[in-house]
Amino acid sequence: MIGVDWYSSFHSIISLTLSDKMPAMKIEDILKVLENFASPSLQEDYDNAGLITGNSQWECTGVLVSLDATERVLEEAAQQKCNLVISHHPIIFKGLKKINGNNYVERTVIYAIKNDIAVYAIHTNLDNILEGVNERIAAQLGLIRTRILKPKSSLLRKLAVFVPGDQHEQLLEELFLAGAGNIGKYRECSFRLEGIGSFTPGDGSKPYSGEINKRSIENEVKIEVIYPYWKESQILSAMFKNHPYEEVAHDIYILQNSYQETGSGLIGELKTSISENELLSLLQVRFGTSCIKHTKLRGKMVKNIALCGGAGSSLLANAINLKADVYITSDLKYHEYFDADSRLLLADIGHYESEQFTVDLLFDLLRQKFLNFAVLKTSVQTNPVYYFTS
Ligand SMILES: [Zn+2]
Repeated sequence: MIGVDWYSSFHSIISLTLSDKMPAMKIEDILKVLENFASPSLQEDYDNAGLITGNSQWECTGVLVSLDATERVLEEAAQQKCNLVISHHPIIFKGLKKINGNNYVERTVIYAIKNDIAVYAIHTNLDNILEGVNERIAAQLGLIRTRILKPKSSLLRKLAVFVPGDQHEQLLEELFLAGAGNIGKYRECSFRLEGIGSFTPGDGSKPYSGEINKRSIENEVKIEVIYPYWKESQILSAMFKNHPYEEVAHDIYILQNSYQETGSGLIGELKTSISENELLSLLQVRFGTSCIKHTKLRGKMVKNIALCGGAGSSLLANAINLKADVYITSDLKYHEYFDADSRLLLADIGHYESEQFTVDLLFDLLRQKFLNFAVLKTSVQTNPVYYFTS
């Protein structure tokens, strides 16, 4: 058994007592914060992130955050009077056909339902954002100039809308409020072009300007903004609500651009080059593991570090292509060590170890938003893998 020291310090419970003064909060209020941070639309096809048991309309009595939603974690939630468990890994992943209590998944689900505990998973959607699971790993290593290792494409759309010149500032403001115009670290990005629009209001129409059956021309501004596709309904509804025209002339474009802030894995740089042995020692200390499996040392200094929390073997080629000196991930198979082909140092630090700081990430996010609400970290060590040392 290993890692007792880091485990006890990492999993300290932040003790907050539930009091009468605590504001009434629905589970959906908590979930909105999580989903605004990491949209469920960003989860992979095979995933099952989201609300797995319980109802978003329940009043929330407290939140317990964990990497895994196990029976012991749910028991702890019941003891702490938390009716919302937020885990990274979904307790139901492949679907259940029977719920008899014959395995730990079925037992956990039964326990959640019997005890009115909502279980919510924020999984690959949290892997797929720059500030997510991987950023916490990078922070442990002090990486700088971090970016997504394999950005996603075809997530972005562009809206072009034509609006009378004197109304465009107000409409643009509402589009920004609805979530349009974010590019990287820049907010409120847009493009405007002045021009002339024409229209002939037909019988029964109620034109903002002009007369029925008479062609009008109007000084208009064309506004262009981009947004990720999952924000489209809120952005369009803001546009229709705040546009003066009865019929709103607008175009929606599907973009092929990469969405640099979303995707799998991360790559960044150490501030200074270190030896491979120094890096492995750093990993050992920062991730609390005495067992790191890795490929043969290349005898080179390392600076460019690629990483992916959890099982990230599928990104090995991306790490090699981007000239990473090291790729850190977990759950590697025998032949995948061959695939590294001496092009970089490949290191497996363990699945739980790589993702352990995700609990802090979720805790910090919720603590920031809900100062006077009971948000706890689990005290249960959920790692099912043990390492034998004599
Ligand atoms: Zn994982």
